[in-house]
Amino acid sequence: MEQQEKILIVDDEIFNVESLVGLFKSEYKIVVAKNGEQALRAVQSGKMPDLVLLDITMPGMDGYEVCRRLKEEALTRSIPVIFLTSRNDVSSEAQGLALGAVDYIFKPFHAAIVQARVRTHLGLKRKMDLLERTASLDGLTEIPNRRHFDMTRQQEWARALRMGESLSLIMIDVDMFKQYNDHYGHSGGDLCLQRVARALTAALSRPADFVARYGGEEFVAVLPQTDWEGAKRVGEQLRLAVESLRLPHVRSTVAPCVTVSLGAATTVPRAGVGAEALQEAADRMLYEAKHQGRNRCCAIHLECRGSEGGEACSALESK
Ligand code: GH3
Ligand code: MG
Ligand code: MG
Repeated sequence: MEQQEKILIVDDEIFNVESLVGLFKSEYKIVVAKNGEQALRAVQSGKMPDLVLLDITMPGMDGYEVCRRLKEEALTRSIPVIFLTSRNDVSSEAQGLALGAVDYIFKPFHAAIVQARVRTHLGLKRKMDLLERTASLDGLTEIPNRRHFDMTRQQEWARALRMGESLSLIMIDVDMFKQYNDHYGHSGGDLCLQRVARALTAALSRPADFVARYGGEEFVAVLPQTDWEGAKRVGEQLRLAVESLRLPHVRSTVAPCVTVSLGAATTVPRAGVGAEALQEAADRMLYEAKHQGRNRCCAIHLECRGSEGGEACSALESK
């Protein structure tokens, strides 16, 4: 079932608030804020609103400032803001629209106009959200795609750098998949990739852990706040999750069923080193796992020294 959309109504006058709530409460979930500060708090706590109806003149922080702050933050930027105000001069309206509001309605408002405009902008927002979701998912497996992974890798690298925390990355490749396709056919191969994707996703337990289809029969996991011991443990969990599916693979010389090889790399990011260094190391470990006989995880613990010359990263230990 579709979740009810949420509207945040921000106005310091109780009469306005009550009439707006009356207009929308049967169709939408409503949250009310009586001033700018409350509005920002309401956005930060709980489920994000799908639309904000925003008064301009309020004691303390005014509506312009609320809008400016919402548009400044990546997380709240895409929430449509409609100004609903008694400032009915052109320059106030121009200022509101310039700040990124999608619409500007004068008070006293007509119920039908406000309802229609809210409906239009919620409809557009729904379509944008769907587009955003579809663009970040892999068509075959319906897990995050390469594009989504690239963004996550950059974000998590930056966060780990800021916090001085460990970050791990695991490259995962299905063993002898060419033979699988040759024997079970391409559609059999597709089905296999879907099962593997689901098993990998289910095997990750922390909410911040992330797995994507990298391309072909390769997957990749990003594990924030995960040290070398943790990465080895998760690598083994992922390996076991696929093996436990017991998908028959009669052409594999590794096992009678579908297996994966994994390469894990862990480091504490340093300024001047890119996230690519971590991924390249994970790739080398994946190659090593293949070389050692497949259906295993090889892991490397890297030390990044940043821009002090020589190689940016070197191995502390590997297994
Ligand atoms: P290794 O154990 O060394 O990883 O060998 P491999 O056969 O798995 O690796 P290789 O890279 O030689 O072959 C990968 C195969 O994956 C070849 C390609 O046709 C198949 N493949 C890539 N993407 C898809 C897909 O979306 N669906 C299907 N069915 N097969 C795919
Ligand atoms: Mg392979
Ligand atoms: Mg491959």
